[in-house]
Amino acid sequence: MSTDAHGHTAADHSGADCSETLHRLYEYLDGEMTATDTHKIALHLAACAPCMEQHDIEQAVKAIVRRSCATECAPPALRTSIVQRITTIRVEYTD
Ligand SMILES: [Zn+2]
Repeated sequence: MSTDAHGHTAADHSGADCSETLHRLYEYLDGEMTATDTHKIALHLAACAPCMEQHDIEQAVKAIVRRSCATECAPPALRTSIVQRITTIRVEYTD
């Protein structure tokens, strides 16, 4: 029997964990990371459904905000609900 590296979990090699990924999502979406960090986060997102879901939400919010800014006719209620959503997400993941 040859030696075997047990205890190797799927997330082990990704480099980033959930809290790092979630805290750095904005940097990732804004393209403000180094190539190495971007790769780390991308690897984690590919392997972690909850983080990928969060990534999709942030990406959608960013797209809405960008579109609203471009047309300058976003209803105040929409802006408020977007900001509240972002705040809620941050509170959930800031522990
Ligand atoms: Zn995760």
